[in-house]
Amino acid sequence: MKISAWGNYPSVDTRLLLPSSFNSAEGLLSDCSSVIPRGLGRSYGDSSLSSEMLDSKLLNRFMSFDADTGMVTCEAGVSLADILEVFVPKGWFLPVTPGTKFVTIGGAIASDVHGKNHHCEGSFSDHVDSIVIATGSQGVVQCSRTQHSELFYATCGGMGLTGMVLAATFKLRPINSSYINETVVKAKNLAHALELLEKYESTTYSVAWIDCLSTGENLGRSILMVGEHSEQGALKAGKKSLLNIPVKLPGFLLNQFSIQAFNFLYYHKVLKEYSEHHIHYEPFFYPLDGIHNWNNMYGKGGFTQYQFVIPKAAGLDGMTEILDRIAQSKRGSFLAVLKTFGKGNDNYLSFPMEGYTLALDFKIDSKLFPLLDELDKIVLKHGGRLYLTKDVRMSEDMFKSSYPHWEQFVKIKQQYDEQGIFSSLQSKRLGI
Ligand SMILES: Cc1cc2nc3c(=O)[nH]c(=O)nc-3n(C[C@H](O)[C@H](O)[C@H](O)COP(=O)(O)OP(=O)(O)OC[C@H]3O[C@@H](n4cnc5c(N)ncnc54)[C@H](O)[C@@H]3O)c2cc1C
Repeated sequence: MKISAWGNYPSVDTRLLLPSSFNSAEGLLSDCSSVIPRGLGRSYGDSSLSSEMLDSKLLNRFMSFDADTGMVTCEAGVSLADILEVFVPKGWFLPVTPGTKFVTIGGAIASDVHGKNHHCEGSFSDHVDSIVIATGSQGVVQCSRTQHSELFYATCGGMGLTGMVLAATFKLRPINSSYINETVVKAKNLAHALELLEKYESTTYSVAWIDCLSTGENLGRSILMVGEHSEQGALKAGKKSLLNIPVKLPGFLLNQFSIQAFNFLYYHKVLKEYSEHHIHYEPFFYPLDGIHNWNNMYGKGGFTQYQFVIPKAAGLDGMTEILDRIAQSKRGSFLAVLKTFGKGNDNYLSFPMEGYTLALDFKIDSKLFPLLDELDKIVLKHGGRLYLTKDVRMSEDMFKSSYPHWEQFVKIKQQYDEQGIFSSLQSKRLGI
């Protein structure tokens, strides 16, 4: 069976394995030689690709819920969408959510995903209490910050390389409404956007959309959206979307001019410099989930997302250099999303560090990877790194120079996976 991730590049032949219980996961593993777990395939690159794939689709049961504390235990294939559907009407929300709800709990832990609240509330694993994992050589193990703690810190953010997460216990947050009080502010350039992010640093959620084709004194002009859970409005989950892009569109539809036009219209669509809105959580957190398979818009060659973080002190200089280089290359990105990160955590391979993170989508063609190699040098020079769950091409050197705990990670992985059966295209490329 041919499979690829969200970027539709690369695709590989794989043997699909579907465990339906903890025991069957252990049984299937005994017959594997190069396997990687897989959730809903919303990672962009090659972290969930291998010749054997352990799909969590059938591990989709809720196991317990404590209505006093908000602690929920579920299997790893339960998605964030499932959780919202069941728990929003009861007055509970996710502690941290990425920009799509079509992500499994296993995938959220393995990538240690972040949301618009990282600067206030950390990443997903900061809200996880314990994990049950099927390892390569130590059987099924329960780990937490106090039990097999090394395995816990390696698994959160460990891109599926320590084993298959089977179930997890984590804490939901109480809400009184499914609505968000949103404030939208226009920023005239990058310095202004960073100033605004600082100004709103105590607001729980914040994100800025950057027009990365603007140049000169408009370089980095953005629309900042910040929000808090509202106390007003009903508790109801979002509606299912009917829009779909069922086939891959011709790649030529996306070019510098169409992207420039889109960015121009998007920026000028927001007319006021400052406005306030009361909106459902769905468009606030998941604007892209409204169109299923929107990744097909990039055509057969696929696309990648380049997401980096750089420390705060280097933020303005580093990002100006990167945006300048992208504007020079005349390559646009529909999606250029800027967020602030608070302090990182103790996980060995988690992406966030205190600073600014920018994510840019690019259509793949022969000139793209040389440009991204250049951007890597700028990121490294400013003490930053790239997000593994979006990556499909960084070099082993780049990875090892920017993830300072990779050697400790490898030691722990070897302890729980003596034969090294857990591996992905990405882990082989990066020498993990
Ligand atoms: C539109 C869009 C917006 C996004 N926004 C954000 C964002 O704001 N913040 C953010 O952090 N990420 C974001 N992402 C990335 C996404 O949240 C992560 O890639 C997430 O890990 C995908 O989960 P998945 O279930 O699809 O896992 P997959 O893509 O299938 O796998 C991702 C990784 O998790 C591992 N994995 C999956 N299941 C398990 C398991 N049961 N046990 C062990 N390892 C497992 C895989 O081996 C792989 O390394 C976004 C993605 C999209 C498409």
